[in-house]
Amino acid sequence: MSIERLENWGMPSTAETEVMVASRKRPFIIAGPCSAETPEQLLATCRALAHTGINALRAGIWKPRTRPNSFEGVGEVGLKWFKQVRDELGIPIATEVATATHVELALKYGVDILWIGARSTVNPFTVQEIADALRGVDIPVIVKNPLNPDLALWIGGLERIANAGITKLAAMHRGFSTFEKTQYRNLPMWQMAIELRSQMPDLPLFFDPSHTGGKREFIYPLSQKALDLDYDGLMIESHIDPDNAWSDAAQQVTPARFAEILSELKIREVTSDNVEFQNALEELRGKLDLIDRELVELLASRMKIVEKLGQYKRENNVAVFQVDRWIKVFQSRPEWGEKMGLNKDFVGHIFKLIHDESIRIQTAKVSD
Ligand code: PEP
Ligand code: MN
Repeated sequence: MSIERLENWGMPSTAETEVMVASRKRPFIIAGPCSAETPEQLLATCRALAHTGINALRAGIWKPRTRPNSFEGVGEVGLKWFKQVRDELGIPIATEVATATHVELALKYGVDILWIGARSTVNPFTVQEIADALRGVDIPVIVKNPLNPDLALWIGGLERIANAGITKLAAMHRGFSTFEKTQYRNLPMWQMAIELRSQMPDLPLFFDPSHTGGKREFIYPLSQKALDLDYDGLMIESHIDPDNAWSDAAQQVTPARFAEILSELKIREVTSDNVEFQNALEELRGKLDLIDRELVELLASRMKIVEKLGQYKRENNVAVFQVDRWIKVFQSRPEWGEKMGLNKDFVGHIFKLIHDESIRIQTAKVSD
């Protein structure tokens, strides 16, 4: 799969003020309203954002809404407003496409960047339909993660678009929907994006704090976390009058607040040339290597004992899994961890994995 870096997306940088001072690459920032509502709302929002140093604007024209009879986007007419915005401000503009017709219309009106929403990425038929409509076109496409935490589905969506010949391709992490109620609208599950990055290291990775958090107060902390994890860009919803937005009112910020958030974000350096820093880093990493080796050795000794235990249980005709024992293990280990300053859930997760492996080892011997 051939992927061009963001710098090659060929869009002019509109940075009038260097709001993000960085010795390394500056994140690619997309901002704009959840939806284009009226020509006035769109233009006023985009004008106010144009001075904040963003790389691209966003606005939804076709809105996937959970329930019918809510505002479902203005449709094709909004694309005419886009043209006015671009003519006046000269900033590329992005919108969501979910059908082949959306793609055709977006291309007809010269939309600069397309994204595929979370509700579309879940469906390979939809992604393939979009991919087919994009064949032979040179336009940046961003694929948001699917609603459910399924990395293969996300990668599959990216591959379908790449196979259509799109090289200006990026992924956008917008969190995953969960049954369980949390403070966020969608659970970040950062490890999913980290895993995507390790499998596709050349793919630019964006983060959408607005749809992940679902509330304006989460935009800043979630964006900072994404930058700390070395994401390449952010997409943030901003509306000239957020409280009266026709969609996603709770998660949009005014352009003024958006500018403030941008100026407060810190871009961490991935590496530093400072020799002292490099030496300290090497030393600490060396210590971690030793500890990791010990951890693996300890796990190996543990599993040897598990094997013996399994054999013993078999000889005495006792079931492999004894619930009482594991209830005790699952209780005591996280408690030990907590006393030593570790996160209880983290220790619980580790012992869940250890338990699965212990059962596997004991039952594997039975079926030999
Ligand atoms: C959006 O960005 O407007 C949107 C609908 O996002 P998502 O697909 O992430 O829900
Ligand atoms: Mn939205």
